[in-house]
Amino acid sequence: MNSGKLNYKTKINIFFVFMAFLYLSCHFWMGYFDRTLPVAPFNGVLMAVQFAICLLMIRKDSKKGYIVSTVLMTISLIMMTSNIIIRHVLSPLPGVCNMIIYLFALFFLTKQFEYREKDAITDMLTGLTNRRGLFQQLDKKIIAQEPFHIIYVDLGNFKFINDNYGHICGDFVMMTLASRMKQEMQNKGTCSRIGGDEFVIVLNGDLEPGKVAESLLTKLGEKITVPMEGSTIDCYLTSYAGISSFPKDAENYEDLLKYADIAMYKALREHKGRISFFSKEMHQTLNRQVEVEKLIKEALESGFFYLVYQPQYSIHNKKLRGFEALLRMKRSDGVFVSPGEFIPIAENGELILSIDDFVLNRAMNDFKDIVNREGVDFVVSINISAKNIGNNGFVNKVKTIIEQNNFPAKNLEIEITEYCLVDSVDIAIQNIKELRAMGVKVALDDFGTGYSSLSNLAKMPINLLKIDKSLVDDIEKNSKRREFVNTVISLGHQMGCEVISEGVENETQVDILNADHCDFVQGFVWSKPLELDTAIDLAKEEAS
Ligand code: C2E
Ligand code: MG
Ligand code: MG
Repeated sequence: MNSGKLNYKTKINIFFVFMAFLYLSCHFWMGYFDRTLPVAPFNGVLMAVQFAICLLMIRKDSKKGYIVSTVLMTISLIMMTSNIIIRHVLSPLPGVCNMIIYLFALFFLTKQFEYREKDAITDMLTGLTNRRGLFQQLDKKIIAQEPFHIIYVDLGNFKFINDNYGHICGDFVMMTLASRMKQEMQNKGTCSRIGGDEFVIVLNGDLEPGKVAESLLTKLGEKITVPMEGSTIDCYLTSYAGISSFPKDAENYEDLLKYADIAMYKALREHKGRISFFSKEMHQTLNRQVEVEKLIKEALESGFFYLVYQPQYSIHNKKLRGFEALLRMKRSDGVFVSPGEFIPIAENGELILSIDDFVLNRAMNDFKDIVNREGVDFVVSINISAKNIGNNGFVNKVKTIIEQNNFPAKNLEIEITEYCLVDSVDIAIQNIKELRAMGVKVALDDFGTGYSSLSNLAKMPINLLKIDKSLVDDIEKNSKRREFVNTVISLGHQMGCEVISEGVENETQVDILNADHCDFVQGFVWSKPLELDTAIDLAKEEAS
């Protein structure tokens, strides 16, 4: 830390000593003028200066300032009163009255300042400390070099409760959780609410954070019964926690909070447990993420992104159905970065929206000429992120790009995944319906890897079900997997869709899928992703 410089505590102390000195010198001069210049108004001015100094001290630190100024003013009061008693004169009497009034004023002003200070650091809904209060608290602990742990808690499905049962129910749940937290953390640490459904516990350094977090999450997961218009609703929450420690992981609170948040996010995302400790490896991952984010921005600006197109074929006659556009990044130094790495990183933030825009524009532009030729008919499939599908403006964006490129809507297919149903189900379904109404096809990608409910899937008017590679792998050796894939194909047909298997790598797999009535195939067995020119040649060949 900055040991060479004065820390905050020392600065405050110097301020107080200086102010006390100023106060006493005012007092001395007041006495001096009192004897030599019997000018009453001057006396009053000096007294007002004293009062102003006291107020300044209280503003700086209400508790300390109040103590120091009360002591100093009381000394003045005693001296003035003793003057009246010893010298039997009544001239200091107005001063004594003033001092008493000032003391009362200081008391009430201090209370007012304290109240406002508390208000500024308290979360209105839960009564817990807010973000600002948390920062102050952490700052103090770090200055005092007091070890502590941070437990960053996220309420996994709180948004669901808020969206489905309304904000009154959400507020009730939030208040219940806050009071449970407070109770659980008594004598162990303090709790703050720093965002919609995010809490931070500052835990005393001598406690075992893993155990405390475990029992806290268990407590938060207990049933919450919400009274609702004559009936009740039972809610259960699954929370996740990330832990970082001072001084082990970082020496400033910004990093400590960021690290605990990263650890929490890992627990939430990987489903390997509800609690995760920050580690150096996570730090490396974070650095890599920052690096890749930079590369994505650079690629978007400088044209390091390009598309390759993987053909899709009818399984029974090997007729070309279309191409899936797959994004590639080649850095300025010639090194490739895999979409398996940069797409998930882009999906964490807003960059994925720019990527989707780029791919929609580029793919339609690449194929607009050939697809408008007579006798040519194939689809161009574009992967679109869950964020875009759950966005109100998405359909209009697609419409605009279609019009700009004069690309027939029927030749465009949007690939979505089940994850688009996690956050904004209603908007996603509405968007899919509007796309279909425009004539755009919609495929459900990576089927078999997600967890969404079949009832939600049934609501989605999709054309094509894409069976994920992980289900097709080893299908020729594993009879259980084959049965499973067979069931999925039937399910797809019953939903009124066509079915394609992706990641098909050998002819035996093709034969099995054909026998099981799968409609299409995409995989290295018949073609790897192709450069644009080769893909266009293939499309022309098919048409002739
Ligand atoms: P995906 O959409 O499921 O794409 C299929 C992936 O499987 C592609 O990997 C493709 O090259 C690969 N693949 C196809 N056939 C075979 C096979 O027979 N064997 C093997 N081992 N792999 C095969 P790729 O291009 O690395 O893309 C990975 C994922 O990245 C994609 O999975 C998709 O989720 C995402 N992605 C790629 N391009 C884009 C894009 O333009 N936009 C968005 N939002 N995501 C994209
Ligand atoms: Mg895909
Ligand atoms: Mg896929």
